[in-house]
Amino acid sequence: MTKIKPLLNTSVSDHHVHPDYSFDAEGSLDDYCRMAADLGLKEICFTPHYDADPERRDYEGFLIINGNKEELSDESVRHYLDDIKRAADEFWDIGVMVKGGFEFGYFPGCEKLIGDLKSRFKLDHSLGAVHSIDGLCLCLKDEAQKLFKKYTAEQLADRYYETLDNCAATGLFDCLAHIEIYRRHGLEYYGDEIMTVHRGRIEKLFETMNRHEVGFELNTSAIRHGHTEYYPNMDIVNMASAAGTRLMALGSDAHKPDQLALDFDAATAVAYELVPYVEE
Ligand SMILES: [Zn+2]
Ligand SMILES: [Zn+2]
Repeated sequence: MTKIKPLLNTSVSDHHVHPDYSFDAEGSLDDYCRMAADLGLKEICFTPHYDADPERRDYEGFLIINGNKEELSDESVRHYLDDIKRAADEFWDIGVMVKGGFEFGYFPGCEKLIGDLKSRFKLDHSLGAVHSIDGLCLCLKDEAQKLFKKYTAEQLADRYYETLDNCAATGLFDCLAHIEIYRRHGLEYYGDEIMTVHRGRIEKLFETMNRHEVGFELNTSAIRHGHTEYYPNMDIVNMASAAGTRLMALGSDAHKPDQLALDFDAATAVAYELVPYVEE
């Protein structure tokens, strides 16, 4: 295979990618790796959903293997990680480093389950994500709106940042996924108030993240949700920087190969510390 000229002007990594092991994603590991090579990405880290929350387990608590829903078990995790290793060996030659982890859905009481899993398997990246409040998913419009009807923007932010703080405090995760995801549907419902509702709430989260050495990602999927700012927004990025909280990854949260590294050329200008210095 020949080496393809990079299209991105910087050599970066996409650290939040859903292959078709996730029920809501399409594209095999190889489909994504070929796309990474075409884009000139130096690294791709897969992060299928791992949602073991008993409240949502029936809906999303499984991995898709060869078209079948498989329980979240050692067997299915091993199958996925073996596939990562195979792809890593195969794509190394064409200059793409392939890594594998999970996007773990946080829920109260998840510590033992996820902690045990992490003691049995070596993961390259453990993303901690808060998707739901009161069992309602912030990413699904109809569920999010039920939540919005219950809470003012401030009450919602109280609940969200409290849950995210608990997620960071588990010490299980390297990185928090898409901080401020409530804006996805919340901007339309609450208006501009949602853009600043983190103030006075997120500071405590940063302290917890610093204490447990948890970083955060700049998640560009907001762009395909019609937003002009990433998750989290620039106000939060600046507050994190002032608090000494680490921006540690760029993630497209791609659910199909053509969403890989979405808007990364612009995002690397924000996350400039992630771009390796290369001597010309
Ligand atoms: Zn997520
Ligand atoms: Zn995701």
